[in-house]
Amino acid sequence: MTYAYNFNAGPGALPSEVLQEAQEELHNFQGIGASILEMSHRSKPYEAIHNEAQQLIKELLELSSDYDVLLLPGGASAQFCMVPINFLTKGKTAGYVNSGTWSGKAWKEAQKIGKTLVLASGEKEYFKRLPDLNNLGIPRELAYVHLTSNETIGGIQYKSFPDTGDVPLFADMSSDIMSRPIEASKFALIYAGAQKNIGPAGVTIVIVHRPLLERIPEAIPDMLSYNVHAKHNSLFNTPPVFSVYMVNLVLKWIVNQGGLPEMAARNRQKADLLYHVIDTSGGFYRGLAHKDSRSMMNITFGISSPEIENKLLVELEQEGFMGLKGHRDAGHLRASVYNAVPYEHCKTLAEFLADFQKRNG
Ligand SMILES: *Cc1c(COP(=O)(O)O)cnc(C)c1O
Repeated sequence: MTYAYNFNAGPGALPSEVLQEAQEELHNFQGIGASILEMSHRSKPYEAIHNEAQQLIKELLELSSDYDVLLLPGGASAQFCMVPINFLTKGKTAGYVNSGTWSGKAWKEAQKIGKTLVLASGEKEYFKRLPDLNNLGIPRELAYVHLTSNETIGGIQYKSFPDTGDVPLFADMSSDIMSRPIEASKFALIYAGAQKNIGPAGVTIVIVHRPLLERIPEAIPDMLSYNVHAKHNSLFNTPPVFSVYMVNLVLKWIVNQGGLPEMAARNRQKADLLYHVIDTSGGFYRGLAHKDSRSMMNITFGISSPEIENKLLVELEQEGFMGLKGHRDAGHLRASVYNAVPYEHCKTLAEFLADFQKRNG
């Protein structure tokens, strides 16, 4: 069997070792005689997986003991409304950093719930450059500040995060969680759908600073309340058990590979390979994001001739490269080089792009 070079943006590549492990224990999980898919979420074997996944998230991100890790359904998009439903309560205002498609969607949902304020926007620069976070001028009474660490579609990513003082900082880290070490203590809430960098679709990780839970009104529906999920250790109802199981395997894989510093070093090398081809192409390839804002996870680029760009996409598919067509909103090309994408695949892609330029430049 031959595998494609998988550069999908999401769901993205999973480590082949993890897929193999899941396959091997699918029919008979740890000798129990049944699959993990067929067991109660209140059974001991499942509970061990659930707790281990939460524990690994705490360890990898070096969270202090006053954070809870929730494992929720609904995707990151559900968080776009859950965040304001829980924290943008009557009379309050929430601050949003608008850096592109995903932060824009989060902001739009919040406007349905309450008052918002855009603290910084990349709109004037067509979301190709990160809005500056250095002088946000955050009013002290804000309910929270929300930002998106990596804009998956535009291909821009923050390297550092602001100090927001007493105002809680929230982040959507769906497409770069566990790709590098972060200063977790700066954040009061982090959420991430698993399917970009740490597992399959179906589960969303929500990391929340516990004291914040006390602010959540009782009156909101149970399934939308972080407080209810936290009180029940994310077992209020049936969690997405198979997704949690897969996330747990991926997290163990990350630990075995050397943890987040090692992930960051590899991701840097992979991204550099591709940006190097773009930057040394004499203008044949054009990076879509400004150099100072470039993402290590999603490399967006194009060719000025649409005919040649289409030819490239056709050839890439013929050669076994997958997922390189850019998002329908951004167009052009996008290579997503998440944790599970091997360096060798990026090297093969970089070499192919250089060769394509020779033949068509
Ligand atoms: C993919 C993505 C989302 C949406 O995730 P769903 O799980 O499909 O709801 C939100 N934010 C970012 C940054 C993403 O990359």
